[in-house]
Amino acid sequence: MRRSARDTTMQITEDAPLDRLNTFGVPARTRWLARIEALGELPALFADPRLADLPVLVLGDGSNVLMTRDWPGLVLTIAADAVSSTRAADGSHRVRAEAGLGWHALVEWTLARGIIGLENLVAIPGRVGAAPIQNIGAYGVELDEFVESVEAWDRRGGGFVAIPREACGFAYRDSRFKSEADRDRFIVTALNLHIPPGRSLRLDYPGVREALDALGIETPTAADVARAIAAIRRRKLPDPREIGNAGSFFKNPVVPSAQADALRARHPALPSWPAGPGRTKLSAAWLIEASGMKGHRDGDAGVSDRHALVLVNHGRATGTELRRVAERVITTVRERFGIALEPEPRIV
Ligand SMILES: Cc1cc2nc3c(=O)[nH]c(=O)nc-3n(C[C@H](O)[C@H](O)[C@H](O)COP(=O)(O)OP(=O)(O)OC[C@H]3O[C@@H](n4cnc5c(N)ncnc54)[C@H](O)[C@@H]3O)c2cc1C
Repeated sequence: MRRSARDTTMQITEDAPLDRLNTFGVPARTRWLARIEALGELPALFADPRLADLPVLVLGDGSNVLMTRDWPGLVLTIAADAVSSTRAADGSHRVRAEAGLGWHALVEWTLARGIIGLENLVAIPGRVGAAPIQNIGAYGVELDEFVESVEAWDRRGGGFVAIPREACGFAYRDSRFKSEADRDRFIVTALNLHIPPGRSLRLDYPGVREALDALGIETPTAADVARAIAAIRRRKLPDPREIGNAGSFFKNPVVPSAQADALRARHPALPSWPAGPGRTKLSAAWLIEASGMKGHRDGDAGVSDRHALVLVNHGRATGTELRRVAERVITTVRERFGIALEPEPRIV
């Protein structure tokens, strides 16, 4: 039975499809779907007896999830999207953005106000609320550099909290919010960023200077950098509106430097970067391509032929079929190079 109820501006629907709430576009349903317009509605939502004790999955745009089954509890989406900033005497900016604001919209909002810092993170899909979950990063910059605190609803204590950056456990594509102990405990409601003054532009990531050259720009502004990076991203990454995907499906593996050195001695073309004392990050895209898996296809589930890190839904693939392709990639890379790839999206 399908039933819909309206409580204030909160919408709660029973037995709802999630096909449009995941950018892979795979079919799945949820027992309950709730959308809140204002953060103050959260206490009432969790006081609803129909929803008590159900597992909760928060979704933004679903650009970093792979649904392999229906969700037996509540899927919550947050539409609250207020944003504001203050400028301190030292020229730094504090920006507060609510979870429902689009991440790209936030980057544009800051650049339009001359706030410089987020330009390399332009055009990352998804909402502000998801950004701290995997500590989004791109083109040599990671979100945690700017986080002052993460505001959240704590499902364990049942109240609003502000978690300072030091307590967020940020690492490469990782945070406390993904950890076993705290997964699904915090519903991120807003992000507080501190953007220092006089920050110089980061142009060293491969391809950025070339893209600026192609635009005929010698002395770029932050907005120029954003434009150049957005252009590279459009060229390199398949657009989920055209072909279902969740961006990079695998993290770049971080391994002991001795293991990386041994691999590089055999495969000099393997790109790698320092990743802290005694650790080296390897290019997962190179490993996948060198394993012959780029463009691999099994029915409608496959690896993109444009970008080896991206799994794609060519049409009617299910989440299970896509997961099988991911497993095939992991096994092939492990057999060929002895490296264990880890998925980046949340697999439900
Ligand atoms: C084409 C493409 C390119 C991409 N490029 C990049 C990139 O360059 N860098 C990068 O880091 N990522 C990239 N991604 C991944 C994705 O954009 C980010 O992970 C983004 O932050 C996900 O946002 P979302 O709103 O879609 O989150 P969802 O996919 O809806 O959710 C992702 C995870 O966060 C949780 N979550 C979402 N909102 C909340 C909340 N308010 N409170 C608590 N938990 C929450 C979900 O439960 C889930 O575990 C890319 C994806 C695509 C499709």
